[in-house]
This record gives sequence, C-alpha cells and structure tokens, in this order.
Amino acid sequence: MKIKINKCWWRLIFKPKVKHEGDDCFGVCWHRSRRIEVATDVDEKEIMDTIVHEMLHASDRNQKEEWVARTAFDITNALWRLGYRRPRE
Ligand SMILES: [Zn+2]
Repeated sequence: MKIKINKCWWRLIFKPKVKHEGDDCFGVCWHRSRRIEVATDVDEKEIMDTIVHEMLHASDRNQKEEWVARTAFDITNALWRLGYRRPRE
C-alpha cells in the first residue's frame, strides 16, 4: 500500500522475510526508492513496532537509531495497550 509521510509518498510492503545486506531483519527503509519493507514472519507486536520504526526513519533520515528504536518501542506499547491491531487477512 501507499502511505504518506511528511509530504512524501512511500510504498509499504509486507513480506514473510526481509533481508538487509544478506541478513534477516524485521524491516528496512529505502530512502532512494521510498520503500519500506516489513517482515511478517514474526509476532504481531513486532510487526507493529517495525512499521512505526521504519516510518520514523522515513520521516527523518538523520535521526539516530537509538532514538528511533526507543520511540517506536514506546509508541507501539501505547498503541498495543489501547488495543490497536492489524486486521486479519
Ligand atoms: Zn532502525
């Protein structure tokens, strides 16, 4: 699907496994092609964390990994406690 982040359109792609430099990872954010890939072969909360995490990278590529990881973790926990979940396919 297409999502808008800070006035730019990005493609959000879900796939069972995502690789970065040969290694499995939860997600990647490709700035040049404006593409976010999210691995779905993990639990639902991890998927939510990855979506938020990669969207934060997309919104500001200069943010430090530590800030992105901590902020995504906190937002995901709050959304999760509020009951937000991906719809079942
Ligand atoms: Zn990251």
